[in-house]
Amino acid sequence: MDAEGTGADGIFQTPWTGVSNIYSDKVIEHFMCPQNAYSMPDADAEGSFGDPSCGDSLTIYLKVKDNTIEEISYLVYGCCASIATSSVTSVLTKGKTIDEALKIAEEDIIEALDGLPENKKHCSNLGVRALRKAIDNYLKTNRMENKNENCNTSRR
Ligand SMILES: [Zn+2]
Repeated sequence: MDAEGTGADGIFQTPWTGVSNIYSDKVIEHFMCPQNAYSMPDADAEGSFGDPSCGDSLTIYLKVKDNTIEEISYLVYGCCASIATSSVTSVLTKGKTIDEALKIAEEDIIEALDGLPENKKHCSNLGVRALRKAIDNYLKTNRMENKNENCNTSRR
């Protein structure tokens, strides 16, 4: 393993795999300057997802108004790719409606990052899974609240 891991081809080498990973400039940019990275104690909903295979975990917080995600933030623990993924997920999601946000897929995240190294693609999962959980939680609590006042106010 040490023989393969010696290539000095990047600052973000991953010595644990021995595979040389080249992150795109976009990944490095988001990793160095993550967008919307803060906790949100007064969030309307939150959702967490952890990937046991690489120890990454992510919690996403949402503020929703008129069916639109007005604010999104997160706390992330994990590798460079997972931090970049969380950041770009928040950027892609902000300002979108719930329906639009639910359509965000792993491929969109990878594309927005100008690609991810093959063995890091699973990290793009993290953003999508946590986002969908957060939205799910939002819809659950919101529907319950709506039931109290009105039978069905959900629009398609
Ligand atoms: Zn990872």
